[in-house]
Amino acid sequence: MTRTAVFDGHNDLLLRLLAGNVTPEQVADGLPDGHIDLPRAVKGGFAGGMFAIFVPSVGEGIDHAAMTKPPYDLPLPDRVDETTAAAFVERGLDRLQALETAGAVSLCRTAGEIEDTLTADQMAAVAHIEGAEGVDRDFARLHDWHARGLRSLGPVWSRDTVWGYGVPFRYPSDGDIGPGLTDAGKALIRECNHLKIMVDLSHLNVKGMEDVANITSHPLVATHSNAHAICPHARNLTDRQLHMIRDSDGMVGLNFASAFLRPDGKMDADFSIDVMLQHLDHMIDLLGETRVGLGSDFDGALVPAPIKDCAGLPVLIDAMQARYGAVLTEQIAHGNWIRVLRQTWGV
Ligand code: ZN
Repeated sequence: MTRTAVFDGHNDLLLRLLAGNVTPEQVADGLPDGHIDLPRAVKGGFAGGMFAIFVPSVGEGIDHAAMTKPPYDLPLPDRVDETTAAAFVERGLDRLQALETAGAVSLCRTAGEIEDTLTADQMAAVAHIEGAEGVDRDFARLHDWHARGLRSLGPVWSRDTVWGYGVPFRYPSDGDIGPGLTDAGKALIRECNHLKIMVDLSHLNVKGMEDVANITSHPLVATHSNAHAICPHARNLTDRQLHMIRDSDGMVGLNFASAFLRPDGKMDADFSIDVMLQHLDHMIDLLGETRVGLGSDFDGALVPAPIKDCAGLPVLIDAMQARYGAVLTEQIAHGNWIRVLRQTWGV
């Protein structure tokens, strides 16, 4: 790849495969829609990232249309049961393997493997689960999934689980809502530390993040979240939270979701990418240059129209180069992720 390589904190491509809408071969050959396929990834320098397995909600799920009319406070869906969620994660890991067989991705278990894949014509894929409903109390499945390549986990997506409580899709609001981790959730964090699985804070509420900070021996990481000071959405991080992440030498990946970027919280893609730079400026100020990256949420969010899909990444990268110079742009594009993952995984 001749483009600046982007490795990022979150995408939902697997959701499209799990819904049966696209095949691994189509991802390798090219798709007419969505945000990610291999030809567009090569074109835009999308070198890979955390590939999320998100277990869909039962029933209606989130009413995204309401997010076009702020203020909003969307009711969260009910809990998903363990057996359903576990079967879904197994299928997600199968799909990831099928993507590798089709030549679209290379499944990475170490920071070194990601580095090696940055210049290859496959995407580097790290297996992540967003919402740990499928993990059992004895962690037997967690061990199995780790053996299959799982290296990152969010204890909750926004709906609550036996492990803890998440933030709602609420604007304006901060994320200081409700209790944090349960005792079982605290044990899950210890087990993730033991297995060196990265814990993702992006959908946890403030108390849950504090609980993780008190337990974990790893850097604090929010894979796809933005600055609350710019967009006061419950999903975004306040200055105090950013300072906690800085103090742990962790990092935050910039989420491209319009509703988490725009100061008005509106789910509307029609705006300038200057807003993305405002979030990056603020996060660089509070976190430092080594603790900021990207976390696109491609295939899971309405991204700014000027970017459109992963082939449009150079629009952002060029703007970053003009503002931050080549060295810091490379750090944000992939270097900081590789640093934090190496620190977390030990390899
Ligand atoms: Zn998410």
